[in-house]
Amino acid sequence: MAEIDPWGIADIKDYTRLFDEFGISPFKDLLDQIEKPHLYMRRGIIVGHRGYEEVLRAMNEGSKFAVMSGFMPSGKIHLGGKMVMDEIIWHQRMGGDAFACIADMESHSVRGVPWKECREIGLNEYIVSLVALGFDVERGHIYFQSEDKRLRDLAFELGMEVNFSEISAIYGFQGDVHISHMISVLVQNADILQPQIRDYGGPKPVVIPVGVDQDPHIRLTRDVASRMRMFLVEKRLDKDLKPYISIRAKKKPLQGFRGQRGEAPLADSGALEEIARRMEGQKKVYEMHIDVFGIEESESESTMRTIEEIVRSVELGYGGYGFFLPAATYHRFMHGLTGGKMSSSVPESYIALTEPPEDAAKKVLQAKTGGRVTVEEQKKLGGLPEECTIYELLMSHLIEDDAHAKELFEECKSGKRLCKACKSQAAELMFSFLKRHQEEREKAREVLMQHEKYKRWFNTLIL
Ligand code: SF4
Repeated sequence: MAEIDPWGIADIKDYTRLFDEFGISPFKDLLDQIEKPHLYMRRGIIVGHRGYEEVLRAMNEGSKFAVMSGFMPSGKIHLGGKMVMDEIIWHQRMGGDAFACIADMESHSVRGVPWKECREIGLNEYIVSLVALGFDVERGHIYFQSEDKRLRDLAFELGMEVNFSEISAIYGFQGDVHISHMISVLVQNADILQPQIRDYGGPKPVVIPVGVDQDPHIRLTRDVASRMRMFLVEKRLDKDLKPYISIRAKKKPLQGFRGQRGEAPLADSGALEEIARRMEGQKKVYEMHIDVFGIEESESESTMRTIEEIVRSVELGYGGYGFFLPAATYHRFMHGLTGGKMSSSVPESYIALTEPPEDAAKKVLQAKTGGRVTVEEQKKLGGLPEECTIYELLMSHLIEDDAHAKELFEECKSGKRLCKACKSQAAELMFSFLKRHQEEREKAREVLMQHEKYKRWFNTLIL
């Protein structure tokens, strides 16, 4: 059974252990390379990443990159979903091509949500809030899985590279899992790789902002992306420990992909020779691979990138996808307001972006704090903001200014701040945030109705 289950309830206390075990890197190590990091980055809410360096390089060099993430329409949009939306929007503002998926095939197959309800929740809860929070519909892509034929074609193609034993090992599937559930895994892989297909401008670094429980999907998709490549490019060391780069054709016959070219597969002959022709410097060409020598250690990274670009471009010419391995950022889970996990079956545990602001404010007033048993004790010992759901709300969603958030933390720690007043302040901020957001949602509806695609989606809800 997989330890982190994207469809189950995750309770991951020890992120460091998880990172060691699954090879996720700490995000804080990249912070000084980001000009204006999002507050989730600055405050350690985005706690880890996998392969984000390539996205960051593209962002800093002004070259193309993309961001994509998905939302399963099975309940109300709450603050956890907002975190993903904020991250998509931030990357879009930083120049990324942005993709937001409504995972209705997943919701239907895994949770049994009827199609009509998937459409209604996807549109009225998720898409409207996404646009209200700042997603630019002119530049970005929003889609329902079930409506996207290219996506389903890509999922089918990816299915050639994944077998039942593998996904069973990752997701703990047993013999009674139904086929649609398995297909939804492939569709999710396709969601992640779709921004790199030719119709969307071809291969590019892509980041998937997700909660850390989604890592199995990311690892599987990175594996599948690599298997879809025609060539494997690796830096190696020779017997004198000098670096060289090996370009190896995969053992299986190279083929063009229907989904990519829309035509019959091309023969593989010539692709490796084409790479050899374009490659400068010392090299040895074998039947199935090329070794490139004479590489200075100090330049090996840039040489590797140049070679990867040549290989990718030949691969595209021969009908391949040339995928970059998708990157991911992982954010921490928000705790439920009642303490413990946030649960959709316990409305008091979460705040929905669409609920009446006064109800949300009441929930805040009743939330679990990190306060002491008596006021005297709190004044003497200080509170425990690191265990307080109110502090988590304030620092994650309600206070933009770092100095202010820090001051609040210190006031709590020193006993200067008391829970009653603190909760009232948080409740007021939450009330104002939701009131404003809900006004923005009305404007977002108007923006969406100006587009034929979204207007059609709204109109299908009336039928
Ligand atoms: S004073 Fe505020 S931050 Fe500190 S424990 Fe109480 S509610 Fe939490």
